[in-house]
Amino acid sequence: MSFRYRLNPTPAQEAVLREHCGHARYTWNLAVEQHSHWHPGRTSAPGYLEQCRQLTAARAEHPWLAAGSQTVQQQALRDFTQAMAAFYDPANPAGRPSWRKAGRNEGFRIVGRGPQWDVRRVSRHVGEVRVPKAGWVRFRWSRDVPPDAKSYRVTLDRAGRWHVAFAVIPAPVPAPGNGQTVGIDRGVAVSAALSTGQPLHAPALTGRERTRLRRLQRKPARARRGSNRRRRVKHGIARLKARESDRRKDWAEQTSTDLARRFDLIRVEDLKITNMTRAAKGTRENPGRNVRAKAGLNRGILGSGWGLLVRRLEDKAPGRVEKINPAFTSQRCSACGRVDRGSRESQAVFRCTSCGFAANADVNAAVNIAAGHAVTARGGDGAARPVNREPQLLLHSG
Ligand SMILES: [Zn+2]
Repeated sequence: MSFRYRLNPTPAQEAVLREHCGHARYTWNLAVEQHSHWHPGRTSAPGYLEQCRQLTAARAEHPWLAAGSQTVQQQALRDFTQAMAAFYDPANPAGRPSWRKAGRNEGFRIVGRGPQWDVRRVSRHVGEVRVPKAGWVRFRWSRDVPPDAKSYRVTLDRAGRWHVAFAVIPAPVPAPGNGQTVGIDRGVAVSAALSTGQPLHAPALTGRERTRLRRLQRKPARARRGSNRRRRVKHGIARLKARESDRRKDWAEQTSTDLARRFDLIRVEDLKITNMTRAAKGTRENPGRNVRAKAGLNRGILGSGWGLLVRRLEDKAPGRVEKINPAFTSQRCSACGRVDRGSRESQAVFRCTSCGFAANADVNAAVNIAAGHAVTARGGDGAARPVNREPQLLLHSG
C-alpha cells in the first residue's frame, strides 16, 4: 500500500535526487547483467549477498558511485531481488526485470526510518521528507502520511515531475471469530464471486476514459518524434493507465480488508496464473491451441487485479487464507456433488445434469471452493490431469 505526494525539491536538491536515480539505475542494471549470464542448469543465480559483494567491488572501482548513497544502491539491489522473486511467483506474474533506461522508470527507494529518513509536516499544505544527502525536501501535504510508513520511493516521471510515495505494510485485520468461511471464485464476467452469492467488480476505466485512451493511443504514430505534441500524448496515456491501476489498487485494499473482517477463513483458487498465461502462447508441440479464447481469459484474470487481491488477503489475514486446487470446481454441483462438464450450461449459468440445481456458475464454483473441495476427475478435460485417487485438499497456507 502506498501513499503518493508531489515532491518540490530545490534546484540543488534536484541535482542530488537525479544522482540517486542514476546510481539506482546503474546498480539495478548491474544486477540485470549478472542474471543474464545465468541460465537454468547452473547451480544458482547470484543472490542478494553476492550482489552486495559485487556492488562493493563496483564502488571501489568507480569513485562517482562510491560518492553516492550506499542506501540507495543497496535498495536498488533489494528491489531487483524482489522483482526476481515476483517473476518466479505464480500468484504474481510480473515480467522479468529488465534494463532501466535513463529518462524512464527513474527512481530510488529509501528504508530505515530514523537514521536514514523521516517525515514531518511544516504547515497545512506542506510536508518535508528527509532524503540522504539532500536534506529536508518539501512536498505537497495532500493527505496525512500514515504514521507507520516504513520506507518511501522517490520517482521522476516523464513529464519531469517528482513524487514521493510512502509504503505501508498492511496491518493484519483481526479475525471476526464467527467461524465463517468464504470461498472466492475468480470470475471472467465479474471479477470474482463469493460463495455468499455476492459478486465483486474490480473497477476499470469508464467508457469515456476508454474512448479517450484509444484515441490517444492512435496518435503517437502521427505525431513527430520528440515533438511537444507527442510528449503530451504519451503523458495523457500514462495518466489514464495510472488512474486505472490506482482504482484497482484501492479496490483490492478495500475488498481484502472487508473480507478479512467478515470471515474467519478465506478460501481461494490456487490459480497458477503465470502458467495459464504462458500456456496461452502455445508450445512447440501444441502451437497456440485456443490462443484467442485464452488470451481473452487472461486479460480478464490479469485485468481484474486478482493476484493483488490474493496478496493483500494474505497480508491482512495471515494464516487464514487457504489455496484450494481449483480442478473441476466449475464442473462440480455444489448441491449434490456430481461432476459433469455438461452442467456448465454457459459461461454464466450452472445447471446440474443430475439433480437440476441451477445457479450462477461463478457462485457455484465459489461454494465448492468454500467447502475446500478438490474434486476427483472422471474424464479429465485436457487442461487438468485426471487424479485417480480419493479427493484431497491441496492447501498451502498464506
Ligand atoms: Zn446436482
